[in-house]
Amino acid sequence: QAKYDSVIEKDSKYVMQNYGRQPLVLSKGKGAVVQDICGKEYIDCVAGIAVNNVGHCHPIVVRAIKAQAEELLHVSNLYYTEIQAELAETLVSVTGMERVFFCNSGSEAVEAAMKLARVASGKSAFVAAEHSFHGRTIGALSVTHKSMYRDPFMPPVSSETAFVPYSDADAIRKAISQNTAAVILEPIQGEGGVKIPNPEYLKEVREICDETGTFLIFDEVQTGFGRTGTWFCKEQFGVEPDIMSMAKAIGGGFPMGAIAAREGLSFGRGQHASTFGGGPLACAAALASIEAIREEGLLKRSKENGAYFIGKLRNMDREDVVEVRGKGLMIGVEIKYPCSKFVDFARERGVLVNCTSDSVLRLVPPLVITKEQIDKVVDVLEQA
Ligand code: PMP
Repeated sequence: QAKYDSVIEKDSKYVMQNYGRQPLVLSKGKGAVVQDICGKEYIDCVAGIAVNNVGHCHPIVVRAIKAQAEELLHVSNLYYTEIQAELAETLVSVTGMERVFFCNSGSEAVEAAMKLARVASGKSAFVAAEHSFHGRTIGALSVTHKSMYRDPFMPPVSSETAFVPYSDADAIRKAISQNTAAVILEPIQGEGGVKIPNPEYLKEVREICDETGTFLIFDEVQTGFGRTGTWFCKEQFGVEPDIMSMAKAIGGGFPMGAIAAREGLSFGRGQHASTFGGGPLACAAALASIEAIREEGLLKRSKENGAYFIGKLRNMDREDVVEVRGKGLMIGVEIKYPCSKFVDFARERGVLVNCTSDSVLRLVPPLVITKEQIDKVVDVLEQA
């Protein structure tokens, strides 16, 4: 307890207190399990907020980072590196897009997508969905809906963002103006409460964007890299965006962001840049993480274990559960009350979960989670 107290005391003294942290001091992780500084283990259904898809400290990723660290840490984008070119080729192959741009986080990826849509269209406005989350930087915040995140920081960069109900294609048609550069959507809303759109929604939005000459951006920051059972969630709906943003799981735990754009759509020289974007360590981690997804068959495991997990959660037959929904291992359990007490209860029994909207428990474990671990999680949630 003394160790715990000393860390928490230092944090409260020296770190800006913008996070409502849980009282847990973590120091190790392996697969789907994390350990606190006293050695207590937790099954991790948060995975660093949908980041550790290949599991904590996957040996392929750790080996690649160590090896790269011995060779070269950073050179900037004034020069070429072999590893960045190789990752770009790999990302083009897994996304089906034509070119990529590298940055360092999800918010930055959204910013880059917005800039590309503006510069390529010559228009400035955006259409986004209610309950959307696209990041906390001022540009990304301009298309993020939640008033708690937005209001204290207004005016937004894009004052013309129209927010329309999610999963309503007609509303998008009505909201698009002469000046709309792009429609930006999460193919499944993550922070908004794991909301899955109607099966035809994204196809209809694609058609509307084609008819009106508007770009379609998919924010796959949370849904990417096997989370929903395919490389990207767009595959589940059979719809191709013009631009997609990626981050979170791309580096297997190492910070990185990227956008990919379809044929013919690209920044021109000098139109965008990042000092650290596509740095050697991040590229090594991302290549290794993609290799680990392939080696471990994680797309299939996400699909199968997700179906198993959702099936078990639906069998709980609890009156306080409104709905269990999800694709792959991106799962939301909507309950009748605010869910923070469930989070505390589960943590005390060795399971980490978190809430997205007030009453939705989000379960986004590493894709390497086993059926036995899922059984334990469901058992604890049922007690909760
Ligand atoms: N887009 C989506 C869909 C996200 O879920 C998030 C993070 N929750 C972001 C963007 C922002 O990512 P970051 O925190 O890396 O800036």
